This record gives sequence, C-alpha cells and structure tokens, in this order.
Amino acid sequence: TAAETRRRIQVLSPRLANQIAAGEVVERPASVLKELVENAIDAGSRRIEIELEAGGAKLIRVRDDGSGIDAEDLPLALSRHATSKIATLDELEGVASLGFRGEALASIGSVARLELFSNVTDEPANGWRVVAEGRDMASRVSPAPHPRGTSVAVRDLFFNTPARRKFLRTEKTEYGHLEEAFRRLALSRYDIGWVLRHNQKGIHQLRPAASLTERRARVAALLGQEFVANALDVEVEATGLRLWGWVGLPTHTRAQADQQYFFVNGRVIRDRLVAHAVRQAYRDVLFHGRQPVFVLYLELDPKVVDVNVHPTKHEVRFRDSRLVHDFLFSSLHRALADTRAGAAAGAAA
Ligand code: ADP
Ligand code: MG
Repeated sequence: TAAETRRRIQVLSPRLANQIAAGEVVERPASVLKELVENAIDAGSRRIEIELEAGGAKLIRVRDDGSGIDAEDLPLALSRHATSKIATLDELEGVASLGFRGEALASIGSVARLELFSNVTDEPANGWRVVAEGRDMASRVSPAPHPRGTSVAVRDLFFNTPARRKFLRTEKTEYGHLEEAFRRLALSRYDIGWVLRHNQKGIHQLRPAASLTERRARVAALLGQEFVANALDVEVEATGLRLWGWVGLPTHTRAQADQQYFFVNGRVIRDRLVAHAVRQAYRDVLFHGRQPVFVLYLELDPKVVDVNVHPTKHEVRFRDSRLVHDFLFSSLHRALADTRAGAAAGAAA
C-alpha cells in the first residue's frame, strides 16, 4: 500500500552526494584527466606532465608547476562546493577560469583513491599531502616534500562503485578517449609545455609554442602532418570577436567528423550554432556526406558567453548568438573563397 512504501526523507551523506555528482562529471578515465588538467591550467601552470597506466583505470597522474594550494585549504580542495575561482554570482557571469563549480575533486575522490601533493613555495622540501579514499570523505593532511605546484594521482577508478566499473571499456578504448582528451587540452594552450606517458612509454613531449610555425608543428604532432599540409590559416577580428586557427581544404575531408575542434575562450565546446555556421561556409565546396577538418579558436569577452550550462561545460550559450553565427560564417566563407575560385577555375579548364 501507499503507506508501506512511504519512507522518511533524509539528507544524503556527503559521500553519497559526491558519488551522485560523480555520475555527471566522471564518466570515464578521460573525464578525470580533463578535470585534473583544467585545474592545472587554472593554477597558471607552464608545464603539465601526465602519466597514465592501464588506460587510466589503474593510474591517472597530473603534475603541474602552478600556484599550488595552501596547506589550510587542502581539505577544502577535496570537498564539494568548495572553489577558489568564484565567490559571487557577479564573478560567475564573467568567469574566465575553466573550473568554478568546486565539485570535480570531491566527485573523483568519492569514486577512486585520490592522492594530492602540493606546495605553494619555492622550497622543494616543503609541501603537503592529502588523500581521499572514497570511504569516509574526511581528508587527512600530512607534510610531504613536493616542488612548487600540485600533483594529483587518481588510482583504481570506480573501485567502490562496481556498477560504474563495469562500464569501463578495454584499455585500448579508454586510452583512445584519454588521448583525445589530451589532444584537446594540448590544443587549447600553446603557451604550456606538455608531457604524456602511458604505461611508462613517452607518447608526447610538446614544448611551449609561441610562433605560428611552432603552433603548426604542435598541431602536426597531435593531428598529423596531413592536417597542417592541407589547412588554411584563419585570422579574423571584428568588434569584440576574434577567430583564428586552421580550416581544412575542401579537398581534404574525412568520412567522420573526428577532426573538428572548436574552442571558445580556451574551452573545447560542441554547439549546434557553431556547427551550422561551419557547415554553411563549406556548403558548396564539399562533396556530399564528407566532413571538413578544423581547429578553430573563438575569443570573446567572457561576459557575453555563459559557460554554466552543463556540469562537463561542453556547452555554452552566447548572449548574441546571431552575431556569433554570422561572424563565423562570413569569416570561414571568406577563408574558403579562394579555394572556391580555384575549384571553379579548375572545373572551367
Ligand atoms: P573547481 O575547479 O571548480 O574550483 P575542483 O574540485 O576541480 O573545483 O578544485 C577545487 C579547488 O582546488 C580549486 O578551486 C582550486 O583552488 C584547488 N585546486 C585543484 N587542483 C589544483 C591545482 N592543480 N593547482 C592549484 N589549485 C588546485
Ligand atoms: Mg576543477
């Protein structure tokens, strides 16, 4: 009966609340990598080193040389709804950092063994260690040497949530997702040097890239020489909007939309409006069913784009979406115009 099924209302334990939040944020090892690296980027790091084992199921370690975390703040870093990035709604509206929700470390720590080292000083003998093992959520802090910056090691992902663990795919598949996450991150910040290792093997070693030539070299290292050999440079600026990067020649297309990267203020996003503008620009130069390749960066005032749409922050909302759409379309249409003229001349000949 209804009376029998009625249960009393209780507040979720912090651990359970975190595990529920983890369902949204921590889909697989690649999502852990994304969150840890975004924190390293937000900390102003110049160099980020990533170490993976067994497709991330065994170990995901991110080491940075950023600001570090004050010892007193360490337990907070692992608690839910605790962040150093915003303090008011006003700040949320113009947020420039990648994080601001204050739930990644808490979520990850509730479904894995998380160990964090940090040091805010230049004395490498200083430093602190804090761990969260998914059990009690109470974090313990103890002194431990670490150079300036932060290292976070995440081991045995989903060890205490067997239902989620079952959804982990093979090492190869998970590693594929990790590598894709790395590609997006390394494409998002050329001023940072990157190291990626998997199962003790060096995969990528990318030095900071300042000049256009160095940037192209990084893109080649991540997406292949083919990509840069068949791409046009884009660089357009209009009132408050800047678009730069590379678009593939209409003759260099793919069967799948698997080399399409669009960044808004350093954050990789998926957006219907953006996709539409790009499709329109390529409309009469692409063979039916083929997909263009591109790496594009849109920069605009953080105040006119809302990033607080989804926990993973893969979506954004533009205040003036019409303006953004038309700017993208016209910029790309123009960039492709020469190839269009070329194609027409070729067809006429
Ligand atoms: P958010 O990034 O949304 O603030 P997180 O759970 O990812 O939430 O991190 C919580 C806090 O821990 C951050 O606000 C930041 O102060 C601190 N933190 C986490 N990782 C790092 C890091 N690599 N370097 C410096 N501080 C960090
Ligand atoms: Mg974060």
